[in-house]
Amino acid sequence: MSKTTWAAIVIAVAIGIAGYLWLSGDAAPPTDTNPTAGLTPSHFLAGGVEGDITTVDCTLDNGATTTCYKITTKGVPRDHDVGPFCPRSITDNADAGGIWLKDGTVYDVDGKFVAGLAELYDDDKWQLYDPKTGAVNVTLTKEACAAAARPDVDEQYHNHCVECLLDYIDGDVSETTLIPVTPVPRSSPGELRNGPVGLALNGVRFDAPAPVHAILAAHTIAAFDDCGGHVNLHVGYHYHAATGCGTQVKQPDDHAPLIGYARDGYGIYAMADANGAEATGLDACRGHSDAVRGYHYHAASAGENMFIGCFHGHVVETARPRRGPPGSAPRDGKRPQRSKPPG
Ligand SMILES: [Zn+2]
Ligand SMILES: [Zn+2]
Repeated sequence: MSKTTWAAIVIAVAIGIAGYLWLSGDAAPPTDTNPTAGLTPSHFLAGGVEGDITTVDCTLDNGATTTCYKITTKGVPRDHDVGPFCPRSITDNADAGGIWLKDGTVYDVDGKFVAGLAELYDDDKWQLYDPKTGAVNVTLTKEACAAAARPDVDEQYHNHCVECLLDYIDGDVSETTLIPVTPVPRSSPGELRNGPVGLALNGVRFDAPAPVHAILAAHTIAAFDDCGGHVNLHVGYHYHAATGCGTQVKQPDDHAPLIGYARDGYGIYAMADANGAEATGLDACRGHSDAVRGYHYHAASAGENMFIGCFHGHVVETARPRRGPPGSAPRDGKRPQRSKPPG
């Protein structure tokens, strides 16, 4: 071995020892660093999203440029069925319908629920079924769904159970979401506004709360299926409640499983842990930190019409990047920036 090689080895060992001493001494890396690793692409259901999850440059809502995961979703769950939503008769049982949420409670949308709406909402104007036959008023066509599932519900569809089917969608509803690779905490919580709150691990979007006020004002019920989702002609299938359906990632400790990611890159976990206990010490955004996961959210209970309360981190604003290759946009070439009721 030459003298230079020996010299190189000696220097390398010296640097190694110095480095070790530095790391193990007072200057050791802080132990309270947020271990939040951000989104793990491999946690998403294979085939649940369109193509591969890639990284691109992006700009956060504070103007900072960073790197984001680019995730294109399909608006269809690959790991569970869609529907049913609305029962057809007031004698139907819970298998014939989905769920509805009121004041934190989840109701089965069965025949009895439909028959009892006037009482539930203490409003005699509810008449969602034919009193002679017991048949439930349901939006049975694409036209009916489109006319009823909007903020100004078409008069003829007042007092209807609103359901839209995936079959009604003839355009491409795939949607690209940019999520920062490294979550960047905000100095104060950020409003959720409209649009997706995040993505479930099966690629379905967690939506902003359904606009229940507008829906009820028209005496309509925009029923969710038992998985807490329903179909909108513009975005496809999306969730308004976490009911335990869909892909989850179990945690090595007893912590609640990972169910998705918020748009700021922090993980969203189920509400309850393996023993059924709810997370404690949650902030207004429904988040807290622990040594394993760093900052993360816990989804609200299914009856609350929400997943998280606010954004802890910065997001990429959803002036949506163009989706898909040219020509794949809906025929009218435009698409609402905001999701519309049923939202
Ligand atoms: Zn937790
Ligand atoms: Zn909706």
